[in-house]
Amino acid sequence: MKVQHSRPHKHTSVTLHAIRQRSGVPYEIERRVCTACKRVLDEKPLRRAAA
Ligand SMILES: [Zn+2]
Repeated sequence: MKVQHSRPHKHTSVTLHAIRQRSGVPYEIERRVCTACKRVLDEKPLRRAAA
């Protein structure tokens, strides 16, 4: 079985949203992930989710 995740390629990013919690406070993050290698390319917090 070949595994190619170390092979150079042009990342194909998709933007995913996720909810996380910090100190009991939920907040939303926006995460860009490559669909080919599953690498997280970028991650940034959005505004807090409504309490
Ligand atoms: Zn990639």
